[in-house]
Amino acid sequence: MLHAQGPLLSIDLTEQATKTVPIDDIRRAFVGGRGVATRLAHQRVPFDADPLGPENRLYLATGPMQQSMMSFTGRMNATAVSPLTDGLASSNAGGFMSRHFADTGYSAVEIAGASDELVIVHVTDEEVSFEPAPELEGATVPEVTEHVEAEHGLDAEHIATIGPAGENLVRFASIMTTESRAFGRGGLGAVMGSKGLKAITFDGDSPPEVEIPPLQMEIHREAATSDHIMKRQGTTAVTDLANEVEGMPTRYWSERQFEGIEGINGDSVEQKKYKKGTCSQCAFACKLPTKDEARGVETEGPEFETVMAFGSNCAVDDIVDVMHSNELCDIYGMDTISCGNTVAAYLASEDAFGDTELIHETVEKIAHREGIGDTLAEGIARCHDELGVENWSVKGLDFAAHEGRALNGQGLAYAVANRGGDHMYSTFYAWEYPLVSGDQAFPKEGLEGKAPAVAEQENMRALEDCGVICRFSRAMLAGKPDRLETLFDADIDELQAVGAGVVELERHFNNQRGFDRDDDTVPYAGMIDGFETALDEYYEVRGWNDDGTVPDEPAADAAAD
Ligand code: SF4
Repeated sequence: MLHAQGPLLSIDLTEQATKTVPIDDIRRAFVGGRGVATRLAHQRVPFDADPLGPENRLYLATGPMQQSMMSFTGRMNATAVSPLTDGLASSNAGGFMSRHFADTGYSAVEIAGASDELVIVHVTDEEVSFEPAPELEGATVPEVTEHVEAEHGLDAEHIATIGPAGENLVRFASIMTTESRAFGRGGLGAVMGSKGLKAITFDGDSPPEVEIPPLQMEIHREAATSDHIMKRQGTTAVTDLANEVEGMPTRYWSERQFEGIEGINGDSVEQKKYKKGTCSQCAFACKLPTKDEARGVETEGPEFETVMAFGSNCAVDDIVDVMHSNELCDIYGMDTISCGNTVAAYLASEDAFGDTELIHETVEKIAHREGIGDTLAEGIARCHDELGVENWSVKGLDFAAHEGRALNGQGLAYAVANRGGDHMYSTFYAWEYPLVSGDQAFPKEGLEGKAPAVAEQENMRALEDCGVICRFSRAMLAGKPDRLETLFDADIDELQAVGAGVVELERHFNNQRGFDRDDDTVPYAGMIDGFETALDEYYEVRGWNDDGTVPDEPAADAAAD
């Protein structure tokens, strides 16, 4: 089976020491990216690690596809114990860093320990150096980029950094790369902050050799010639449909349709888009550089999820206001989904929906943990009692936009996802939206036959994250399993097994931290017919105990020892 090449670089920030570790067996068993990082974390992070303590380890990893010429591969993976969910979490970012990372010759980098003073680590194919950076305390993402460019001649594409939110241990702080791209979900930016690591750069000229089948060029051509609406509107193309099917969380989940949708839908974003945006090597180019000169707002996005979190969920009907929230989150380094949802929780508590001035002020306060911002920086699961609102999260991760009350299979998928209320874990919504899923559509309502399909889709998404391949390749890859077989040189059962192994390792790690069936739920579980039966079916397909735990030692764990 195709897999990443190159050893692990382990960086100990406490000792300012590095080690190169061969991981051939792990790469062979887990392909790369999220699989390799998950296996390493399972092996090397204590099960009782404090997410914000030096014993937690952060992994960055690419896969074999970062050596390809194929579209949809300008992405990479980050993994650590999440300060938001308290479980193992992987996050995935686009941009241009993955190729520079691969050029160092490493397939994975581990960051262990913690530095007493703020540092930047520079990784090249020849050396690793540690740069004290106390003067960057509190620096925003653009300020760090400016510093690295001026001092080291490396542009934003080479940098992964945190803003003030990461330093201030905001539990949904993101790691930013290429300035506006985020390892967003799960608060991995706070893990970097807890380690005193302001930024890490990658540069080199030693990419490992990986032979990718010629199919890569066919897919690349299709991406270039496709007239898919995402090329104009990105993920916001689905906004009107989501609203139509009552799948658009509104006013902190108290409603499911937003009357102001026309002000924040895909067309409104397209009107503000001023040029094409993409990730490295991707001809699909679905990104959304937007600006509004009159109001002095310039950002990349908002994506659909941000349109929900800072738009309908906050009752904001002006796309420029949503763009400004997006811009602030990128500058301070915070996940737009969690930040927007948490602000929505605050607006619910203050009866202040639609107050854009308060929204933008609150985002700034969260990043700096000032006043109410200090409470909100803990995330919805930890602050909802104090605010007097419902806890709209799963396993501590607040929900993404695709609404499980409208798309019941996605509801089940949120419940069982190891990462929590996360749409990307299985992207099951894509198989329930009639216009997106085509032949493979499931009805939106009910759970009949969906539990095995959720497990199957989770496995395929995990495989993509091992690859590392973008979710938005779905029309050209996920929907055509024979192509995945050709690309990875393995049959579909083997590919499913790789994905299942990753999901099981995550589950086993989280079980050791106390997660079980009680955590596999959503606030509306009682409203979905057959929810508990579907949960039983899901565990049965996975071969897990009926309390949601993994029996004995995970099979995948033993395989790579
Ligand atoms: S499809 Fe979009 S998000 Fe995915 S790699 Fe291409 S430009 Fe990036």
